[in-house]
Amino acid sequence: MGVHDQLGDQAPAYVLGALEPAERQAFEAHLAGCVLCAAEVRSLALVGVALAQAAPAAEPGPAVRDRLLSSTTASPRHAGGRGGWMAVAASIAVAAVLGGYSLQLRGRVATLQSRLRDATLRAEAGERQMADVRRTAADAQSSLLVLAAPDLARIDLAGQPAAPTATARAFWSRTRGLVFTASNLPPPPPGRAYQLWVLTAQPAPISAGMLTLDANGRVNARFDTPPDLPRPVAMAVTLEPEGGVPSPTGDKYLVGLAN
Ligand SMILES: [Zn+2]
Repeated sequence: MGVHDQLGDQAPAYVLGALEPAERQAFEAHLAGCVLCAAEVRSLALVGVALAQAAPAAEPGPAVRDRLLSSTTASPRHAGGRGGWMAVAASIAVAAVLGGYSLQLRGRVATLQSRLRDATLRAEAGERQMADVRRTAADAQSSLLVLAAPDLARIDLAGQPAAPTATARAFWSRTRGLVFTASNLPPPPPGRAYQLWVLTAQPAPISAGMLTLDANGRVNARFDTPPDLPRPVAMAVTLEPEGGVPSPTGDKYLVGLAN
């Protein structure tokens, strides 16, 4: 049995400083003349350097990890011999430190990722709320502009037999558009929707747009109307196929004459 076979598996314990002084002396004497042990000590020392430089951004490279793994799987040439248990224990200690380091690093990255995700979600929610507020403010301002228009005309609409309790009111300004409010309209059946019509001196009613009921069955809408729209003489709401039609086909739900 050669000296290498006796001492070769002590390299990890040597690098970790786990050898007794006499063992250490004997291993160093062997190390000076053994290329195998010298190579193993060098690679184990590299692992030590990687651990010492445990900066968050630097996970030990694959080369270092491979060398460590090959040293912990107790290569056959080093198997057995005096002090083998200690070398295995030392190798396991190195692997445990390295594994713990990787786990810690992975945990840190996961924490940062989840914090970033939270912050992003919060920012997006904030932006959405701001967009809602801006939209609501813009809608309110557009409606106010119509209501304050010097050329404002008002048309009150009354519920028809299809919806006797429904009521509505339209405010129209040639320069600023149309504001329409309604209440007590029954929810339209699936595939159907309410459409608002402007009746003028011309024979064909003009579609102002589709009406959307809110959760309380109310409508609060603003429409742009063409500047050359003839003065309305009446308005009506009919039930039509979803998406609207070019001229009214369905039952009238609301009708009102201009003053
Ligand atoms: Zn050796």
